[in-house]
Amino acid sequence: GPTSSAPLDAVVIGGGQAGLATGYFLRRAHLDFAILDAEERPGGSWQHYWDSLRLFSPAEHSPLPGWWMPREEGAEFPSAAHVADYLAAYETRYELPLRRPVRVSRVRRDAGALVVESDAGTWRARHVISATGTWRAPYIPAYPGMDGFAGRQLHTVAYRNAREFAGQRVLIVGGGNSAAQILADVSQPAETTWVTLRPPRFLPDDVDGRVLFDVATRRAAARRMGVSDDGGVEALGDIVMVPPVLEARDRGVLKAQPMFERLTRRGAHWSDGSEQEFDAVIWCTGFRPVLRHLGPLGVRGEGGRIEVRGTRSVVEPRLHMVGYGDWTGPASATLIGSGRAAKSAVADIAASLREEGRAPD
Ligand code: FAD
Repeated sequence: GPTSSAPLDAVVIGGGQAGLATGYFLRRAHLDFAILDAEERPGGSWQHYWDSLRLFSPAEHSPLPGWWMPREEGAEFPSAAHVADYLAAYETRYELPLRRPVRVSRVRRDAGALVVESDAGTWRARHVISATGTWRAPYIPAYPGMDGFAGRQLHTVAYRNAREFAGQRVLIVGGGNSAAQILADVSQPAETTWVTLRPPRFLPDDVDGRVLFDVATRRAAARRMGVSDDGGVEALGDIVMVPPVLEARDRGVLKAQPMFERLTRRGAHWSDGSEQEFDAVIWCTGFRPVLRHLGPLGVRGEGGRIEVRGTRSVVEPRLHMVGYGDWTGPASATLIGSGRAAKSAVADIAASLREEGRAPD
């Protein structure tokens, strides 16, 4: 069983791309570890994304460590299903010790180790890497009138495809890539209105995920060398002009209005007094890091953030964070960027184990 008297060198919580990339380096360092994942199947959150979703970059620009993502036949920008298949093949290829479905409820300290409690047993570990992503913590802002709106409301996480909105009037909320891609989708069979807090910032047509990664890398290097950086990726814009979004622009639907003031029973009301009726509201308003399981460690600071040095928690040095966002390393929540954060986490862990006199070969 998982509960043994001798703790594992490491337990990884989460079996998406961040957990797998971490597993790759733990394997290479010859450490004893397990990866606990709440899903029934491989693929992390990629298995849940909507049908039309396309990567920001060609397959060859989205590798996990060690093995390139194969090309998807007939598609320069791979689908989410293709990425999920790649992750499934990746964990088989590197014989990663995945346990599924295992939902971790909490991580706490006991004498000399961290204890990882789940619905499928308890693991003891010298080090824990949390890689639980953001998909399971959708964020919807509070607006007056939301409860009284008679139509349907859903978050990005519940969106699958545009068919169910055919012929409807749909309000899409949010200024990021999810909003732009879902708008491109829904505006084909439905009549859409797009609202954003600030005017949307479109990236130049020729900037794709590869350019974004290069900028994030240069920015990290500049910071390391103490050079002030130029604002990096954020200064360029937010929305990547993938082919469906370009096509939506050509159709003239990629035009945003200011945010409404409140929802009404039948639609939305703006501060200038105007109103519009809607059958559905899709909240593409983002995600928060999934961190509840770390509560007992007391590592969360102001605003719920975990203070890290590199990927390591300042308060609990046996805890590492991989993925989530730029705060665990530049572009660490992208496929290609997760490897860099994972590598640095495992290097730190291996160094700690050596200091403790546990020298794996
Ligand atoms: P996840 O994929 O969410 O994996 C986390 C895993 O942890 C899940 O399997 C989950 O079930 C599990 N888990 C959570 N809580 C627990 C728990 N308590 N116990 C056990 N297991 C748990 N990136 C790119 O590189 N290119 C792109 O083009 C791109 N497009 C994107 C488009 C969209 C719409 C979104 C949302 C993201 C996109 N990303 C893209 C960003 C990024 O690659 C993903 O967010 C990525 O899935 C994050 O991986 P992860 O492993 O950190 O988290």
